[in-house]
Amino acid sequence: MSTFQAPKGTYDLIPPDSAAYLAVREAIAAPLRRSGYGYVETPGFEDVELFARGVGESTDIVTKEMYVFETKGGSRLALRPEGTASVLRAALQANLHKQGLPVKLWYSGSYYRYERPQKGRYRHFSQVGAEAIGAEDPALDAELIILANDAYRSLGLSNFRILLNSLGDKECRPAYRAALQDFLRGLDLDEDTRRRIDINPLRVLDDKRPAVQAQLVGVPLLRDHLCEACKEYHEQVRELLNDAGVDFEDDPKLVRGLDYYTRTTFEFVHDGLGSQSAVGGGGRYDGLSEMIGGPALPSVGWALGVDRTVLALEAEGIELELPAATTVFAVPLGEEARRVLFAKVSELRRAGVAADFAYGGKGIKAAMKAANRSGARFAVVAGERDLAEGVVQLKDMRTGEQEPVALDAIVDRLRAPGA
Ligand code: ATP
Ligand code: MG
Repeated sequence: MSTFQAPKGTYDLIPPDSAAYLAVREAIAAPLRRSGYGYVETPGFEDVELFARGVGESTDIVTKEMYVFETKGGSRLALRPEGTASVLRAALQANLHKQGLPVKLWYSGSYYRYERPQKGRYRHFSQVGAEAIGAEDPALDAELIILANDAYRSLGLSNFRILLNSLGDKECRPAYRAALQDFLRGLDLDEDTRRRIDINPLRVLDDKRPAVQAQLVGVPLLRDHLCEACKEYHEQVRELLNDAGVDFEDDPKLVRGLDYYTRTTFEFVHDGLGSQSAVGGGGRYDGLSEMIGGPALPSVGWALGVDRTVLALEAEGIELELPAATTVFAVPLGEEARRVLFAKVSELRRAGVAADFAYGGKGIKAAMKAANRSGARFAVVAGERDLAEGVVQLKDMRTGEQEPVALDAIVDRLRAPGA
């Protein structure tokens, strides 16, 4: 062990487990790629104001969880705590919204929040996200929910639920907000929560503490205060999901951690994860663009947590069928064989066959052990006598059977499907 450890609340992705992470990222991205979403990558840090305005001054993310630092040049930057504000900033900066709407983008990367570390909650974590910018169309909201659902299903997950709600818009939310504040002011709440009533009362609905939840019986719900346009919009989203055969639960108390959500709001929760049950979430954020200085661009998006999705796979006992990292492992016996097999390994790789080599001048025993450990289906073994005859020994690691194959023919032989 070295003197250094990964910082608190972080962990390293190392083989063999890292392969499942890559596969999860791929599985979430695949439905987006075939649905017209283009890949976007933004910096790991941004002007702190982008998040203060875009995520919201009153959110936990901005008040408590953000890594903020000052550069030598005096700029105040923050490690990105989430993706949406950055992606929208990038789209505006590149004027993508002037080239046809909606702008559909997907991203994948690391995010940073100074949280109390626990299982499923880290200070550095990974998300894959998608945003559809600049169109108000219930089919877009439905599309994104369907694509996230498809991604989870493609991984074999089934023990998750989709919670759905509408948060209204600037027509109906203000009156609801006032009614909610009236109700909440009559409750027995601590000082922090009382302050929240003034700044962002909807957030109180999300309070997980039983003592608070118990008092919320009879709380006014937004669904009873939605304006006609919001009601109609929400009904259409629900219908499209039903048509697509995607099950969801109406959750009238669902709000989300970010300030900028309007109308459609949803969360994917997994029932095998204990208290860190949200594997992903998102919604419509019609006001965000204007909040960060852009034109009105009604948009919808989600972010799925890769770390928690991997935990969900574990919870359901799902082992992804990952192709072996190495198909062929070459074991040379002697200097001449080393030269010849090393060349063959390069040739195999160029032909698309995953191949590795017994490095470090190992003896046959250690080399065969390395071949075993690699998970390779085949070992190619050659010594002086083999080469003199123009052959290599092809060993099937599963059956243990071995046969000579002409050196000239080995690449074609191993390239064939099923070899
Ligand atoms: P939570 O309520 O669990 O704090 P959140 O509402 O803060 O989640 P979002 O900002 O919506 O989460 O992020 C989307 C997804 O990213 C979450 O559903 C979760 O899977 C993942 N995520 C968020 N924060 C963390 C974290 N600290 N560690 C690991 N994954 C995280
Ligand atoms: Mg959070």
